[in-house]
Amino acid sequence: MGKLSDRIQRISESQTIAMARKSRELKAQGIDIISLSLGEPDFPTPDIIKEAAKKAIDENFSYYTHVSGYLELREAVCKKFKRDNGLEYTADEIVVSTGAKQSIANAVLCLVNPGDEVIIPAPFWVSYLEILKLAEGKAVFIETDVEQDFKINAQQLENAITPKTRVLMMSSPCNPTGSVYSKEELKALADVIVKYPELYIISDEIYEHINFCGGHQSFAQFDFIKDRVITINGVSKGFSMTGWRGGIMAAPKWIAQACDKIQGQFTSATSSITQKAMHKAMELDYETYIKPMRDAFLKRRDLVLAMMKDIPGLKCNVPQGAFYVYPEVSAFIGKSYQGTKINNATDLSLFLLEHSHLALVPGAAFGEDRYLRISYAASEEVLRKAMTRLKEGLAKLS
Ligand code: PMP
Ligand code: GLU
Repeated sequence: MGKLSDRIQRISESQTIAMARKSRELKAQGIDIISLSLGEPDFPTPDIIKEAAKKAIDENFSYYTHVSGYLELREAVCKKFKRDNGLEYTADEIVVSTGAKQSIANAVLCLVNPGDEVIIPAPFWVSYLEILKLAEGKAVFIETDVEQDFKINAQQLENAITPKTRVLMMSSPCNPTGSVYSKEELKALADVIVKYPELYIISDEIYEHINFCGGHQSFAQFDFIKDRVITINGVSKGFSMTGWRGGIMAAPKWIAQACDKIQGQFTSATSSITQKAMHKAMELDYETYIKPMRDAFLKRRDLVLAMMKDIPGLKCNVPQGAFYVYPEVSAFIGKSYQGTKINNATDLSLFLLEHSHLALVPGAAFGEDRYLRISYAASEEVLRKAMTRLKEGLAKLS
């Protein structure tokens, strides 16, 4: 094998994707694996969106578009921000991409110089750190735990800021914890941010629509910092469109232009057909098309939490959004099965995969290896089976 660049050697494979791959391989061998590893809604994409895409194909909407997405789509995105979030943007402040993941990468690569510090509240979503490594930025973590519902406060943020801090990068609703920041909690952070004019916020709001606490709060709502907020969103989660690859960014024009430039060299625009589908998604009525999925997620969350109560040793918050529960599993660390010791959550996840045929993602992927992430984006029947496997598997450890 030849020599790869230092850059690629610095970054790790996405562990959520790796776990999904492992369980696919085992399934292909005929093993009955239940995988709650990937954060991916299991609902079909709404028909009305599929129809818009089919129409686009039939009408030969088949050519390169503006790198940031065709104008009417970006205008529809502006309307979405106004309608759902009370935010005013113009089309030249919107960049449509191949996914929230690309939008985050664009923003990080455009803002972070080697050695710049980026504050990441932990637990954090897998790709933040690896994208940051590509940009040669330095991660500064703010640790949180289940007792504080995995949310940072103003004092913690203030303590983490140094003259080298460039970006705060976080998600609400949060992957992997499901925590959701209230307006007051975001305002407290904004009051700190306003004091540091060189500090930008990459606010990942991809789980906006999967919210169980009465409405999404955007970071950019605070006018006094709006010119420093990069809002990330997309269609993967709320519209069950993970494979379509459509992301959205709203940001000050100079940042949007820089992201357009980087995207113009890396990917060009996302698929023209996907753009037409996204356009329809931006216009959908929430109550008719999105709320039913959100309601199903809430039922599933409650089912998983109820079944978890029955498993001694798991410590969990009540997630207010996204579709994950993130129990602390310290009670099982140090235990053994047939002579093999569980040293951390990674060992525990491998044990569950091998002996219970249940795939979950260990906390190591998200910052600290004493948690397991359970994605409840699966049917109630599958969830019931999975939680029974979890209970029986954990009971084998002593
Ligand atoms: N941010 C978070 C917090 C996520 O969980 C995901 C999962 N896919 C993404 C971004 C990326 O989303 P997309 O599929 O739109 O790239
Ligand atoms: N974001 C999802 C997850 O965390 C999908 C996988 C990925 O994009 O890494 O599982």
